[in-house]
Amino acid sequence: CSASVLVQLLVVNRFRRLLPSVMPHPSTVLITGANRGIGLGLVKEYLKVGAIKHIFATTRNPDKAEDLTQIQDNRLHVLRMDVQDDSSIKEAFDQVNRVIGDEGLNLLINNAGIWTSYAVNEEPNRVALQNIFNTNTTAPLIVSQIFLPLIRKSAQRGGDWGAQRAAIVNISSGMGSIGENTSGSGHNKSIAYRMSKAALNQMMKTLAVDLEPEGILSVAFCPGWVQTDMGGKSAMITVDESAAALVNTISTFDKQHTGAYLRRQGNKIEF
Ligand code: NDP
Repeated sequence: CSASVLVQLLVVNRFRRLLPSVMPHPSTVLITGANRGIGLGLVKEYLKVGAIKHIFATTRNPDKAEDLTQIQDNRLHVLRMDVQDDSSIKEAFDQVNRVIGDEGLNLLINNAGIWTSYAVNEEPNRVALQNIFNTNTTAPLIVSQIFLPLIRKSAQRGGDWGAQRAAIVNISSGMGSIGENTSGSGHNKSIAYRMSKAALNQMMKTLAVDLEPEGILSVAFCPGWVQTDMGGKSAMITVDESAAALVNTISTFDKQHTGAYLRRQGNKIEF
C-alpha cells in the first residue's frame, strides 16, 4: 500500500504542471492595481481557484472600478490603495488585518505599474523619472514592507516553501533585463521604464536573500506582451492567457524559485 502511495506521489510530482487542481495554491492573496489589465485578470483567475478564501483587490479609486466591483463573490474584498500614498497602504493593511488577522497573508502581488515615454534625446525631466520610479520601484518595496507582518504570520505557520505559504510576486517586465536589452528595436522611448523595472528586479532579489531565513519567497515575472491599456491592442497575448499562465507558474513555486526573474511560463530571464 505504501509503495502505491509513493508511486502516486511520484506521478503527481512529475505531472504537476498538467494537474492544476492538485497544485498548491494560496488561500489569501492581495493584488495591487487590480481594477483593470493584468491585475484584474489575476483577480478573475484566482477566483477560479477552490483553495482561495480571500482576495484583496486593491485600486486607487474603488468608485470608478466598475469591472472589479461588479464581480459577485464573497471571497473578493475591494480596497482602496494608491501605491504612491503610504497612508492609503497602511489603511489597506489595517483592513486586511481585520479580515485575516492571525491567518496571515500567503501571497502579495505587486502588479500596479506605469509606462512613461522617455528617451535620451528628449528634454531632461526629473519629475517624470521620480514618478515612474515611485510607482514601479519604490512602491513595491514599501507595500512589501507594510504587509510583511501579515506575510510573516503565514510563513511562521511552516510547511513547504511556496505561494500557499508565503510569497511576494513582483510584476516586472522583460524590459527590465540588462542582459537582453534591445533598446533600439521599437523600445527606445522606454529608458525610464527599463530603469525602474531593472531596479525592481534588484529589490526582488534582495528581498529573496534577506527573507530566505524566514521561508518567504520573492520572485519577479514578465507577464508577456499583454493586450491592456499599457500593452496596446496589437500585443501578443490576452489578459486571460497571461493571468492563467502566471497563476499556474506561481502554483509550482518551491524554495529553488526564490530570487528568480521569470517569464510567465516559468523559464528564466537573464538579469
Ligand atoms: P494597465 O495600464 O492596464 O494597468 C495598470 C494598473 O496599475 C491599473 O490598475 C492602474 O490603476 C494601476 N496603477 C498605476 N499607478 C497606480 C498607483 N499609484 N496606485 C495604485 N494603482 C496604480 O497595465 P498592465 O495591466 O498592462 O500592467 C500591469 C503590470 O504589468 C505593470 O507593472 C506593467 O509594468 C507590467 N507589464 C505589462 C506588460 C504589458 O504588455 N501589458 C508587459 C510587461 C510588464 P488606475 O486604473 O487607477 O490607473
